[in-house]
Amino acid sequence: MAKTATAGKKKASVPKALVKAVKAAAVPAKKGRAKKHVYFFGNGKADGDRTMKDTLGGKGSGLAEMTNAGLPVPPGFTISTGVCNIYYAEKGRIPADIDREIEDNLRKLEKAAGKTLGDVNNPLLVSVRSGAKFSMPGMMDTILNLGLNDRTVEGLKAKTGNGRFAFDSYRRFLQMFGNVVLGIPKEKFEREFEAVKHERGAQSDTDLDEDGLREVVRRYKEVVQRESGKPFAQDPLQQLRGARDAVFKSWMNQRAKEYRRIYDIPDHIGTAVNVQAMVFGNSGDRSATGVGFTRNPATGAHEFFGEFLVNAQGEDVVAGIRTPQPISELEKVMPHAYKELRTITTRLEKHYKDVQDFEFTIEDDQLYMLQTRNGKRTGYAAVVIATDMAAERIITPREALLQVEPMALSQLLAPVFDPNEWKKLPVATRGLPASPGAASGQVVFSADHAVEWTEQGRKVLLVRKETVPDDIHGMEVAQGVLTATGGMTSHAAVVGRQMGKPSVVGAGELRISEQAKQFTVDGQTIKEGDWVSFDGLTGEVKVGQVATKPSEILQVVAGKMQPQESDIYQRFDKLLKWADKERTLGIRANADLPDQAALAYAFGARGIGLCRTEHMFFGEGRIEKVQRMILATNEADRRAALNELLPLQRGDFYGVFKAMNGEPVTIRTIDPPLHEFLPKREDLMVEIARLEAKGESRELTDKRTLLHRVEDLHEFNPMLGHRGVRLGITYPEITEMQARAIFEAAAQLNKEGLKVVPEVMIPLVGIVKELRDQKEIVDRVAADVMREQGVRFKYLVGTMIEVPRGAVTADEIAHEAQFFSFGTNDLTQLTFGFSRDDAGKFLGIYQGKKILERDPFASIDTVGVGALVRIAVQKGRGVKPELKLGICGEHGGDPASIHFFNQVGLDYVSASPYRIPVARLAAAHAAMQVKVGD
Ligand code: ADP
Ligand code: MG
Ligand code: MG
Repeated sequence: MAKTATAGKKKASVPKALVKAVKAAAVPAKKGRAKKHVYFFGNGKADGDRTMKDTLGGKGSGLAEMTNAGLPVPPGFTISTGVCNIYYAEKGRIPADIDREIEDNLRKLEKAAGKTLGDVNNPLLVSVRSGAKFSMPGMMDTILNLGLNDRTVEGLKAKTGNGRFAFDSYRRFLQMFGNVVLGIPKEKFEREFEAVKHERGAQSDTDLDEDGLREVVRRYKEVVQRESGKPFAQDPLQQLRGARDAVFKSWMNQRAKEYRRIYDIPDHIGTAVNVQAMVFGNSGDRSATGVGFTRNPATGAHEFFGEFLVNAQGEDVVAGIRTPQPISELEKVMPHAYKELRTITTRLEKHYKDVQDFEFTIEDDQLYMLQTRNGKRTGYAAVVIATDMAAERIITPREALLQVEPMALSQLLAPVFDPNEWKKLPVATRGLPASPGAASGQVVFSADHAVEWTEQGRKVLLVRKETVPDDIHGMEVAQGVLTATGGMTSHAAVVGRQMGKPSVVGAGELRISEQAKQFTVDGQTIKEGDWVSFDGLTGEVKVGQVATKPSEILQVVAGKMQPQESDIYQRFDKLLKWADKERTLGIRANADLPDQAALAYAFGARGIGLCRTEHMFFGEGRIEKVQRMILATNEADRRAALNELLPLQRGDFYGVFKAMNGEPVTIRTIDPPLHEFLPKREDLMVEIARLEAKGESRELTDKRTLLHRVEDLHEFNPMLGHRGVRLGITYPEITEMQARAIFEAAAQLNKEGLKVVPEVMIPLVGIVKELRDQKEIVDRVAADVMREQGVRFKYLVGTMIEVPRGAVTADEIAHEAQFFSFGTNDLTQLTFGFSRDDAGKFLGIYQGKKILERDPFASIDTVGVGALVRIAVQKGRGVKPELKLGICGEHGGDPASIHFFNQVGLDYVSASPYRIPVARLAAAHAAMQVKVGD
């Protein structure tokens, strides 16, 4: 699993070495494989260790590491991830030599366990568990108690003197095997189980006695016969092969694929299969099974956290069948095992230098560790834990940085409820606070509806009895997830935390009818579409809509709260200051107006990488002036209109410079096609028709003129049309006015004592002469302003590199430019030939078919677009070593892209204000050469 696997985990890059290893492993059987495919662990020694996640998967490497550390781990072996690829390459077959290697290890396991698979008097039972490099909670299935059949079950009974336990284990195995290997729906089994319970008046699973369970087993075997057309497989070796292959098959099931799509995990890394001797948490009242965390994964609080069930097995805790007890209770019922568990897990935390998410089983007071991994956590918890562990000196500040996934920081900026508004509604019910955050939305009862409604622009809250892995597409889009059953480690809770999705689970008072699409709570009936709100930090649920407000961090940043009043702000700030020490990339903001610039500065941006002047044109009372400029039919009229815009632009630039406190500010001259500032043709035509009905008027004449101009300006392909530098060349007076506004503002501030160095940026340059043309204007205006104002100041003139021709002729362009800023949005659009505004129609399908792994507008295409960036960097710096280089596309806030920009040697990235914290941390990770999610 990822070292920094936190809630916001999105990008999981795969090291080249792994890709190589997988390819090597996938060599067909005939050529012979000297390679090892199966890794044993047991008797205090393992073939593998923690460094081998690529080969053993996260679970297998954790079992190996714990074994080597002398912890109580039942022995077993791991079939490597490479075998998964071989399985697929060989179309669902495992070559004989690997099969032999597996059997050799099975013999070893039998020796270590002192039991034999299929031996009637002393049967070995095993679990068959999947485990990929990245943990995928509940995505693939585990089979327990394998090795049981009609004879060994009697052997198990004889050996333990506990018939109830033996048959409880057998019925569990039959159901798991039937479901996972034979594909029989769980309900077919559950129906029989409920029937027997009902007939025998049993309330809970544990109320059934041996006799009852024998009956369940009998019926289960009938289900298998009926549904699969074959009797249940009695041969343990056949069972084992079937289970192994089912794990490999589950790697490609729909929900596993969906999960990997969301978390950007490649398909080809494969899953390992762990075969491990069983220990039994269901052997009586001195036995139990449980899961836990060394710290609270929702809030980050330093407290032992988890749940367990007495006399239970495996998934009972997370499945929400019985309500588990909090782990603190374990101290009372099994103090010895509890103490050992605390000692072991504290040790594991120190060893892995991260919060551990562990699974354990107690058999007759004896503790066994079954899994440990770095725990997934909310973004909030990630920051708390990292700063705490650094303060406790378990980790260094550098290690603390690596513990926090950059995207997790954006969760901390998510809105919270306005406490006053929140107080006004009564609490309808309470659930477990599984994942913090404020959620308010219209209730839906299925994941598909959640997606549908969201696409219609509604905010939804997904309400389920409990979520299942198939629900994740709905969880992804919902404002929050609310469930009636399940604990803090249920599916909804784990996935909610990981997605950073506010979640309240186990709200037991909800009476949900998914068919009727409604639930009742607190005497009210809530139907699909009604508003419900909840607080994922407290677990309170209310009926109605509640406005949200900015998070504490935002409030501090906006000056509405003092830093010392907010614990989380102080931690956030500390972490980012550590990040600033590590990173070498500068961080700037894309901000157009003074207030955005101020926010970006408060978030830590030191400079503006992109100030889009045209955004200033949309302000109140401005658009009319812009339109007048556009409608002008001669230069004199145009200049008159521009003169009215001049003081407004100057004022904006003054504000932006000032907010940036003397840090560099890059201002781009006008970029979009002019028609964007005019009304739509269709709207005008409607208006004209309306006016015509009233007879001739001045207004009508004006509208007709406007319509003509709009038609004049119509372009078939505006993004490739009359825009960017092309506008400045055809209407030099626009560039002139903008340059003047910039320099007059700079002159003013320099007089006031704030040294500002404006950077004037010409967009969409593909030909060096375009830049030369515009630069002459800018230089002339600068000289004029300095003379008029009697001040001198420095300024730079540069260009965006966003047209492929600009990138490949960057050496020529560098002669004229003092800086380049990569406009990666346009560069991506023009390199792929994908219209940014239309690509949504097919990009999803491209990703589904794996033609593209990611959306290239969200995360830079390092191969294609990246090649152009590299060329431009090389050519530009070749001509002018001191050339300043930055990026101002949306990619400037994307961690994976930031890694790339760091690698190619840019000076800074520029991101939207809310992404600044993410960019600071990602830049630190990049400087430490850590790939995201690795
Ligand atoms: P997941 O990856 O979904 O967590 P696991 O393979 O960890 O699935 O198995 C789930 C649960 O099954 C474990 O937490 C544990 O309770 C139980 N289990 C797995 N292997 C064994 C075993 N050898 N002995 C006892 N219980 C086991
Ligand atoms: Mg597990
Ligand atoms: Mg552009």
